[in-house]
Order: sequence, then structure tokens, then C-alpha cells
Amino acid sequence: MSALAPGSVIGILGGGQLGRMLAMAAAELGFDVHIYTPETDSPASRVAAHTTVAEYDDEAALAAFARSVAVVTTEFENVPATTAEILVFNADAVIHPNPEALAIAQDRLEEKRFFNGCGIATVPFAPVDSRADLDAALVQIGAPAILKTRRLGYDGKGQARIASLADADAAYSALAGQPLILEGFCRFEREVSLVAARSVHSELAPYDLVENIHADGILVRTLAPALVDARVQQEAVALASRVGGALGYAGVFAIEFFLMPDGALIANEMAPRVHNSGHWTQDACIASQFEQHIRAIAEWPLASPGRLCDAEMINLIGDQVNAWAALAAEPNSKLHLYGKNEIRPGRKMGHVTRLKR
Ligand code: AMP
Repeated sequence: MSALAPGSVIGILGGGQLGRMLAMAAAELGFDVHIYTPETDSPASRVAAHTTVAEYDDEAALAAFARSVAVVTTEFENVPATTAEILVFNADAVIHPNPEALAIAQDRLEEKRFFNGCGIATVPFAPVDSRADLDAALVQIGAPAILKTRRLGYDGKGQARIASLADADAAYSALAGQPLILEGFCRFEREVSLVAARSVHSELAPYDLVENIHADGILVRTLAPALVDARVQQEAVALASRVGGALGYAGVFAIEFFLMPDGALIANEMAPRVHNSGHWTQDACIASQFEQHIRAIAEWPLASPGRLCDAEMINLIGDQVNAWAALAAEPNSKLHLYGKNEIRPGRKMGHVTRLKR
């Protein structure tokens, strides 16, 4: 494929707010977007030229979708691996990120093994497929620890803390029945993430490392840039470069790190997509993460990831979105609402970026 001409159609698997913001960025570059989602009336479909509402295993719908687009991308990493395989092998679609990157990011165990294989440090971990496995893992790793589902965990869901061995039974019964992983508890100083775009020509365009503040496992606030030593930023970029290279990745991805008191970076997770901790780039950078992702998958030159000013991004979670009028009146702030009809506790409804001169 060569650079995709404006007017071409870009397919996006998933219809959430990330798809919505990708669709708007694609429109700014003259592309149309076709959203594929099982959800009716999704946030992304409201701003897209075309939508297919179908299940992720509907082969006929996937084939028709593939025929209607020049390239396919994803806005959420839990698109079943079989969906990507049907698109690539049955429908001959070009898909970024590639199915291998999706498969690794979908499974916390594979992801940690992948990081270690790239020479990137993680917390100690062990697979847990039975109660006996958990005992063995606790002997190996010790407490405190966190038991997590290997798949489909997000925003702190599918996790149980094990403060001492006495918590093992409760943690196991809360999550049993699916493949699990035990992780050593990390006494980090701060949480930081690196969002970067990688082109099909292996060029890497990293944004500044940012600091993330979570509550109950959900991202609440991102501070850009993270106030860290320049060596920490350089190290994060070097690690991202290894990850992108090992995956033969094209598009935007994010790596979440635990920053240790001595400045060491421990990789927690990688997201093969645009990421909540990169939303500040919409208002404070030359090109947003959404534009960069579209550029990368369309085989356009990447834009500069340069930061125009410092920024703070605050997620509007659940009924916090009801403050929209006051937020809209703030000078030097940009409000982004996702057009979700129903407010639910813990649901990401929008975000606001406060620009700092
Ligand atoms: P995750 O879904 O793995 O990103 O976890 C959500 C949040 O839980 C992280 O952002 C951390 O604040 C916390 N967390 C997850 N894993 C660990 C760990 N092994 N040690 C300490 N805190 C953790």
C-alpha cells in the first residue's frame, strides 16, 4: 500500500469514544470512516460516514466491511483475535495494528512474557489456573500481591488484592473460572505512560512521558509532561522503540509504567491503540494522538509529536459530566464530550484539558 489518498474510507473496529475521536481526526484529513460495532447508536457512529452494526464473529458482515474500506484499525484491544484473522485471511484486509500485537495485548500473561523477552522489566508474575497454582505462586512471589484475570480486565476490573495469605481464598473465589495471573505488588513512586506513533517505515514519534493519577483503577488525571529526569523520558522512548520494533507495529500505542523511587521503569501494560493518557495531545500538541494514528495507518508522514504547552487532562467519570456548563466556561480549557446517552457510575463520559502557559 502507498499513502492513502484523501477521500478513502478507513474502517474502525469498535464504536466507543476512542473511535469517535479517531473518526473526527480522520475527517480533518479528508477521510471517511466506517465503524464496525455490535453496539447500536454508538458514540463513534454519530460522527462517522458509515456504520455496520454486527457481532465480531459475523463473517458475512466482516467480509462486506472489509470490501468497503482501504485499511482497518481498532479502537479497543479486546476485538476477538478471530475477527482480525477473518479480516486478514478471509477478506484480505490490511489491518493495523497487526493481529499478533492485539493477541499479546489481550492477555496479561503473554504481555508480561513479551516485555521480558524484549528485556523490559515487569513485576514478578505467575500464571494461576487452579487454587493450588495460587498457593505456589504466593510462595514464589509473596504477599502483598494482586490476582488478575488474564483477559478482558480494564479500568481496575477483574482484580483482587491479596494483602496477606489470609486473603487468598476470597481473591480466588472472586475471580476463579477463568485463566488468572498473580502479580507482585509494586511499591511505585508514580505511574507514567508513554504514547508513541510508529510508522510502517519504523519511524517512532513519541510524545512526552506523562504522569497518571488513578482512583479505583480508573484514570482520573494526566499531567503533561511528567516532571521526571530527562533520562527517564529517554529510557521510556528506548523501551517503546523496542516494543514497536518487536511487534512490527504501525499506529499509535501506549505503554503504562510504574516509576520506581530510583528512576527505574517497570512496564505494567501496553495498549495497542490510542490511549486515555494521550487525550491531552488534542489540545496541547502540534498533532493529536488521533491524527498521528490515522497518519500512521494511512502511510502518511508522521507529524511532529511536539508539545505546544503544558496541560492537565481530567476525565469526566459518571455524573461528573453534569459539570459541563461550568467546565465550558473555564478560560484555557477545552471540553470534550462523548455523546453517551446514559450516565453510569465509572463510565467515561468526557474529558477536559486545561492548558497551562
Ligand atoms: P491495570 O488494569 O493493570 O492497569 O491496573 C489498574 C491500576 O491498578 C494500575 O494503574 C495501578 O494503579 C494498580 N496496579 C495494577 N497492578 C499493580 C501492581 N502489580 N502493583 C501495584 N499496583 C498495581
